[in-house]
Amino acid sequence: MILPKSNRLTPEQLAEVTAIVTEFGCKIQPIIGAVRSIYAIVGDERDELMINRLEGLSYIDRIDRIQSPFKLMDKRSDLATHRIALGGVTLGEELFVIAGACTIDPKNPNYFYETAQAVKEAGAHVLRGGVWKPRTNPYTFQGDTKSLEILLEAHRRTGLPVDAEVMDEQQLGLALDAGVHMVQVGARNALNYSLLRAIGRAVAERPTVVLLKRSLHMGALNEFISAAEYIAAFGNPNIILCPRGTAPSIDGYRNHPDESITPLLKEKTWAPVVVDPSHSVGKAAYVPACALAAVAYGADGLCIEAHVSPNHGIGDDPKQALTPGVLSETIRQAKQLWAIRRQEKIS
Ligand code: PEP
Ligand code: MN
Repeated sequence: MILPKSNRLTPEQLAEVTAIVTEFGCKIQPIIGAVRSIYAIVGDERDELMINRLEGLSYIDRIDRIQSPFKLMDKRSDLATHRIALGGVTLGEELFVIAGACTIDPKNPNYFYETAQAVKEAGAHVLRGGVWKPRTNPYTFQGDTKSLEILLEAHRRTGLPVDAEVMDEQQLGLALDAGVHMVQVGARNALNYSLLRAIGRAVAERPTVVLLKRSLHMGALNEFISAAEYIAAFGNPNIILCPRGTAPSIDGYRNHPDESITPLLKEKTWAPVVVDPSHSVGKAAYVPACALAAVAYGADGLCIEAHVSPNHGIGDDPKQALTPGVLSETIRQAKQLWAIRRQEKIS
């Protein structure tokens, strides 16, 4: 639907608009009103190039789309009934919890094995552990491929499926060869379309769940859902959206908490939403409240950093990891709140 700036397009403007949409196999149906006229695009209006060219015309105010720009992730797509299951949980039927260390310390693997056991006892369904880390400072610990073996050993010991972030195709190959059950696209790579495509291709061949974090700089929700569409386009729709806070941060928090986008995402897409309160607020003391807020907003799950001894952790763990006791209590309360919401059938 094209809305011009003036109340009506001139014949020359209408001819220009018509010529553009005709190139893309569409037609224009003018709807002339007494005060304002609008111009319907008849046909498949999803071509971004067509929309870009129309939006570039100086006399166009805006284009309102009726069709979704994403074919697979849209709530109205055939995939709307698709369900994702991992760790004994079908998302949407029970609160789904991923928990574990920000970063595995390859020199002290016992901390991770003990954390893995604590995560299991706290009632989480997936164990997370950072093998390769996206660090702001190139001189800080960048992760170590050796940690992949530690992650898989923790899986063997606990039986929990495991999740690790991958930042490039080489890491993706190593993680999938090792048999991780979930690959994480971090906030910094959520706009890396080459990586999203590579992940899409790889997980279509070797079905794996993808946890797609929201970029710090993703304002429009369509941008977030379109990133998921890149992965789904290759055939594997096992994608979970993970709001984790955006920039600029709120003074005192690590980022700008964004659990409140959950109901907005759910209006647009069928994809489950698993909120990461740890990177959102960035301080252990605030994580439980943020986790409960996410559930109150309708999140299907949580991704929480935890460590048996946060001060002995590396990466984000000293600041934001929950101790086992706090993790257990947070999960218990979150599951209770989730059950109340479901019982009361609050949307
Ligand atoms: C992480 O999960 O440890 C991490 C680095 O997350 P994000 O990409 O959200 O910063
Ligand atoms: Mn972290």
